[in-house]
Amino acid sequence: MNASLGYRPSYTWRSLLAGRDLLDMGLYKSIGDGKTTMVWKDSWILSVKRGELVPLNEEAKIITSVCELLDADGRTWNQQVLDTCFDRITVEKILCIPLNKTHLPDRWAWKGGSNGNFLVKSGYKLAMRESWENMNLTPDLFCDVPTSLWKSVWKLPILSRYKVMFWRACLGIIPTIYELERRGMVINEPCVMCEEKPESAFHLLFECQEVQNVWGMTRFDFSSWTYHNSLLEWMTVEWDRWGREKQCVFVMTIYFIWEARNQRKFVNEVVNLNGVWAKVERRWDEACVAGVRAKGALAGLFRDSEGVIHGAFMASAPALNDSMLVKALAIKKGVEVARQMGVLDLVVESDSRLVIDMLNSNYKICKAARHVTGEQIWQDSLPICINDVCTENFH
Ligand SMILES: [Zn+2]
Repeated sequence: MNASLGYRPSYTWRSLLAGRDLLDMGLYKSIGDGKTTMVWKDSWILSVKRGELVPLNEEAKIITSVCELLDADGRTWNQQVLDTCFDRITVEKILCIPLNKTHLPDRWAWKGGSNGNFLVKSGYKLAMRESWENMNLTPDLFCDVPTSLWKSVWKLPILSRYKVMFWRACLGIIPTIYELERRGMVINEPCVMCEEKPESAFHLLFECQEVQNVWGMTRFDFSSWTYHNSLLEWMTVEWDRWGREKQCVFVMTIYFIWEARNQRKFVNEVVNLNGVWAKVERRWDEACVAGVRAKGALAGLFRDSEGVIHGAFMASAPALNDSMLVKALAIKKGVEVARQMGVLDLVVESDSRLVIDMLNSNYKICKAARHVTGEQIWQDSLPICINDVCTENFH
């Protein structure tokens, strides 16, 4: 339970780790064959917390998994071994743990639950209860989805086509075999990826064995899909908890999985799903670069002395790290536009005190420039006012 995620972990492993945080809230190992439960690290005796089991002596530490505490047939506790490892009270508690007679593997269970299969799910639900209870879903196009979800999706800094695809996948309006058959078409084809299971949106995007490899490659942990039955349900519970990058990456991955599916289905192309993740990373990098470029934009507006707005301008500017320079360029652009508009009397306002101060500074070149109308460039000779300036020392 102290293991880390590691590099490219298997999906089952990720799912187990996703549930790890729930352990302290009541998850424990229900003993089957005892092979995957660690005696000293896991929680497997109901009243003993994880990591609080004390070995009777140093030799007891040699025992690692619970199966070593069972008789050879694995159906009863080996009391002799138990007595050498634990104190009397603990031995009694262990003897009370029923052993299954069919050699099933150990499984996760939730204290207080009644049906093992649903126990992990109920544990997850407990952790997510707040968002779960605020949900109001109907599996229809006109379902009551929190508008905050859509608002936050549309705001993502990625292309609309990714977002539209995600929105459609959430509402179940992508033409999967399942959806088409639900609407009366007879197709009778299994999922094009695994050629085995029925192709519903949720299967195709998450459950399908082939697609799980794609999700396993991502930098983020998306394993909690296993606790849900639909994308919309999952998103309503979790979307807000994800950071923006995780959200973008998720939305783009869905798009490219669908694209790969269509390539395979209609173009009959042998699509390697392993390329999906690299594609997402590339698009994300591009989105980040575009975002930086957009920062180099200038804008301003023209108001009269009454405050009435008479015009505005916007212009792109190269990506500059210096915000002062961007503001100075904006003022320059504003003066140019004002001149084109025929404005003779111009008052410049800026939120950059420093830029304004520099323009008002006593540098003689600035003072001189304030008396020059229009654009002036001298290359052969200098006017006297500037000539004087040039002999001064610049600081
Ligand atoms: Zn499949």
